[in-house]
Amino acid sequence: MLLVSEPTLGEEEKAALAAVIDSNWITMGSRVQAFEQAFADEHRVAEAVAVNSCTAGLHLAVDALGIGPGDEVLVPSLTFVATANAVLYTGAKPVFVDIEGLSQPLMSLADAADKCTSKTKAVIVMHYAGQLVDREAWRDFADARGVILIEDSAHAVGNARGPIFGDMAVFSFYGNKNMTTAEGGMITSNDPQLLNRVRLARGHGLTTSTLQRLIARAATYDVAMLGFNYRMNELSAAIGLVQLGKLAAWNEKRRSLARTYAGALRECCPQVVLPFSENQLSCHHILPVVLPVHAGRERVMEDLRAAEIQTTFHYPPVHLLSLYRERFPGIHLPQTEEFAARELTLPLHPKMDELQAIHVARTLAQILAC
Ligand SMILES: *Cc1c(COP(=O)(O)O)cnc(C)c1O
Repeated sequence: MLLVSEPTLGEEEKAALAAVIDSNWITMGSRVQAFEQAFADEHRVAEAVAVNSCTAGLHLAVDALGIGPGDEVLVPSLTFVATANAVLYTGAKPVFVDIEGLSQPLMSLADAADKCTSKTKAVIVMHYAGQLVDREAWRDFADARGVILIEDSAHAVGNARGPIFGDMAVFSFYGNKNMTTAEGGMITSNDPQLLNRVRLARGHGLTTSTLQRLIARAATYDVAMLGFNYRMNELSAAIGLVQLGKLAAWNEKRRSLARTYAGALRECCPQVVLPFSENQLSCHHILPVVLPVHAGRERVMEDLRAAEIQTTFHYPPVHLLSLYRERFPGIHLPQTEEFAARELTLPLHPKMDELQAIHVARTLAQILAC
């Protein structure tokens, strides 16, 4: 079966894990620190804070930015549920914003402007599929209204655009992301004070860590804030350091496969919509296509599965999930709903080759009788 996504793991990751076990230090320590610095260097920021998931990182980000009850936060609905959950954790209200359209499934600036009120405290943008949102436009949007800008960069690990433009950005290293630490996440910001705050909050708000206490022989600690346990461990960081070294090559491979897909689909499957233009900056986290209106996605997925090709879809809109529908009823986002009903995610990962991409495109064309 050709899978939608697959981690690339091997001897180097095994050796890195063995070295951690031999060192007898498995909780947050020098490897986490080395991983943070390497990640910051790769993404051209001064520093970064590692956590045990992107979800934890998003929670720390909204918490550190002082978002809470009475505040509204603009979020896309075409995203993983964690983006909106992070807002709910703080007691603030997520306000769902539509996408631009089928060929540009990123949060709409116009709809965001419409939904901005005096209560809007922040906006969380999400780089869907690895396609970067318009950084200047969103920075202007946030500055003009005096709202905080957060990037859910779960899909944008290893982007080549340089430093982040949001007040904070949070990345994911879950097993199906562009690189993995099994579970893990990273927070970046250009504001050292904000990063200090999340660094404290990830470890119960303790003023000294276990490692610092060992090194400095400090006997005690103080707690001055309500913190969490969102620490990354040394095993994850060791895998992350190895994976980070390969990330640029993997993302290049993804780019090349995406180009091959685009060529093949345009040739043999012209009624399938390929979102985004080829010159947009992207980390090509996933390969979404939009099926013709009456294609019947369930059947298409079954037929592809019979041909040993796994597919999935990204995402069921968050505003239609039971939890959110019950809390925030009556929301209608026409573009998001149409995109989500017709979107199909094709296999894309660095272990694939170009012939497999062409094979998937041709098989899809046969099933759709293009
Ligand atoms: C994967 C993902 C997350 C959550 O990441 P975890 O590391 O699994 O917590 C959040 N937002 C988006 C858009 C994602 O794709």
